[in-house]
Amino acid sequence: MGEIAADPTHPRYQSLLMRHRLEEAEKKGMLAGSALIAHGRGEAFDYMIGEQTLPSALQATHQALAYLSQAKNPVISLNGNVVALAGREILHLAHHLQCPVEINIFYRTPERMEALLSHLHEIKQQEGLDVDILGAEPNARIPGLEGPRAKCTKEGIFEADVLLVPLEDGDRCEALVAMGKTVLVIDLNPLSRTAQMASVTIVDELTRVVNNMNRILESEEQTMLLSTYDNQATVQQALDHISTFFAS
Ligand code: ATP
Ligand code: MG
Repeated sequence: MGEIAADPTHPRYQSLLMRHRLEEAEKKGMLAGSALIAHGRGEAFDYMIGEQTLPSALQATHQALAYLSQAKNPVISLNGNVVALAGREILHLAHHLQCPVEINIFYRTPERMEALLSHLHEIKQQEGLDVDILGAEPNARIPGLEGPRAKCTKEGIFEADVLLVPLEDGDRCEALVAMGKTVLVIDLNPLSRTAQMASVTIVDELTRVVNNMNRILESEEQTMLLSTYDNQATVQQALDHISTFFAS
C-alpha cells in the first residue's frame, strides 16, 4: 500500500496517514459507502481523547490479549475499514497468536470480498506470514441477524470462543455476545452499543491498539487474565477523560 509523502513531524501526520490508507482502499473497492463516515465518527472521539492511548485502554488491551492468548479457538474478525487501516499489522498479530482472521462485512458483495481477500493474501505473501484467512466461503449464520451480514464460517467465527472484533456494529456485537462468546472490541466511541455490550472494550484507535498488542507480544511480557478487570469501569474512565476535554 502506498504511503503519503507528508512530513512525519506534521502534528496531524497519523491522522493524515489513516485517511490516506482509506482513500487507497476506496480506490481498490474495499470499502462500503459509509466507511468514511464511520471513520469520521472515530476521529471526533479520538480528538477528544487526545489521540493517545489512555492508561485504561492499555489495561483493556492487556486483558484482551490475555483472552486471545488463552483461547481455544480465537478469531479476529475483519471488516473493510479494519483491513484498510491495519491489515498488515493485524496479520502480524494473527501470526503471533496463531489465530485465523475472518472477513465479516456488513455490506457484502462479491467484488468487495474479492478486493479484501486479495489485499490480505498479498500482504501475507509479501511478509511471509502463516495465517488462515477465512470468510470467502461462509457456511454458517450468526443467529439473530438478518441478511448477508449474518454470514460466517463454521470453523471461524461460528465456533470461536474468543473473538476480537475491531470497529464492530452494535447489532452484531450483541448477537455474538448472545452466542456466549467472549467479545473483545476496539471502539473510540465509549457510548456506542458495541462499547457498552462487549466483554472487553478498548477505547482507543485501531492502529494504536494493534501496534500495542504486537509490541507487548514481541517483548514477551507475560499476559495475565485479571479476575478483577471491570469493563464498565474501564469504559467509564474513557468517558471521564473525555469530559475533561470539555472542562478545559
Ligand atoms: P454501534 O453500532 O456500536 O452503536 P455506531 O453505529 O455508532 O455504533 P458504527 O458505524 O457501527 O458505529 O461503527 C463505527 C464505530 O467505529 C464508531 O463507534 C467509531 O467511533 C469507531 N471507529 C471508527 N474508526 C475507528 C478507529 N480507527 N479506531 C477505533 N474506532 C474507530
Ligand atoms: Mg452501528
